[in-house]
Amino acid sequence: MAYEVTFIRGDGTGPEISEATRRVLEATGVDFNWDWQDAGVDVYADEGTPLPDRVIESIRQTKVAIKGPITTPVGSGFRSVNVALRKELDLYSCQRPSKAYEGVKTRFPESNLVIIRENHEDLYAGIEFEMGSKEALELIEDVDKLIGVRMREDSGISIKPISVFGTERIVRSGFEYAKKHRRKKVTLAHKANIMKFSDGLWLKTGTRIAEEEYPEIDFEERIIDNLCNQLVMRPEEYDLIILPNLYGDIVSDLAAGMIGGLGVAPGANIGDEYAVFEAVHGSAPKYAGKNVINPTALMLSGVMMLHHLEEDAAADALENAIADVIREGKNVTYDLKPTRDDPTAVGTSQYADAIIEKLG
Ligand code: NAD
Repeated sequence: MAYEVTFIRGDGTGPEISEATRRVLEATGVDFNWDWQDAGVDVYADEGTPLPDRVIESIRQTKVAIKGPITTPVGSGFRSVNVALRKELDLYSCQRPSKAYEGVKTRFPESNLVIIRENHEDLYAGIEFEMGSKEALELIEDVDKLIGVRMREDSGISIKPISVFGTERIVRSGFEYAKKHRRKKVTLAHKANIMKFSDGLWLKTGTRIAEEEYPEIDFEERIIDNLCNQLVMRPEEYDLIILPNLYGDIVSDLAAGMIGGLGVAPGANIGDEYAVFEAVHGSAPKYAGKNVINPTALMLSGVMMLHHLEEDAAADALENAIADVIREGKNVTYDLKPTRDDPTAVGTSQYADAIIEKLG
């Protein structure tokens, strides 16, 4: 039976890497019935919205989507499609496995981490007060009255909500990932020593879920600054790390850097009902239409999707084929060659051909 999956090509270099990814996914032998959907700058030009309702409707039907990157033009007035999708579909768990493949240039060749980031709460909840606005000035008065702390009147203010509900579900999602993928240890990152009521609540709630519901998996907590220090000093001590939104944003880029950069960093945004798989990188518009960009990140997001569909054998076969082609270093894109102007670099589609050949 074919899987119904929504495929959003994206814009910029999105269509090229989406096509390469479609081809390798189909070469695993798993049957897909793609529902192709467009979102982003071109749709915005034609329809006045970058995210037509039919895209969301499609994902509500199929429950699973894979998506090429989408440009968020600066100052155009349209909000990020990526953020809108996460909100509309309640995709609260951002999952980024960060594994260094042999043959990729990195200072941390042993890296093999998973970053689980909460997507909705924390300082990114969008509760903000502009400096000098009526609301900001009122809030300054109210806070003074409530707790006797006086902020300067020329302050801009962002609020950091962290709830028991939001923490419980992201921590469970991290542990469930650890169980399915046989990860040995879970680390919960926080700054509870300073932010006692937000990060403190996160730490207390996360520790309770770990102890009561997942006693079989090793668990530890780390203060975020110490964690960053240790990730570069002793990365082998870390396995799966669960972080609130802001720290998760930063540490997932750190982890992508540790495995050799954006070209090879996959991801997924997952909720209780829907899952959207996408590369960490953006639309790299300056390379659009040139058949040069590295499609590995979206292909590895496809590997994550195969695991999500419980097609584990196909997922492993595709991951191994990608790893083999990268290790051999011959049929790889410019960013995986020793120098960026290496004339032996192949294009996006030829790289996909080499992977398909390995899949036999
Ligand atoms: P970017 O990730 O698109 O590219 C930055 C640079 O990284 C590129 O110029 C290129 O040198 C390198 N790079 C990125 N992906 C690569 C790949 N697959 N292979 C080889 N090299 C690669 O970042 P940006 O330029 O900041 O963003 C461009 C647009 O994408 C922006 O509008 C941004 O908002 C959007 N964006 C979208 C997503 C998403 O759809 N999830 C994520 C991040 C950024």
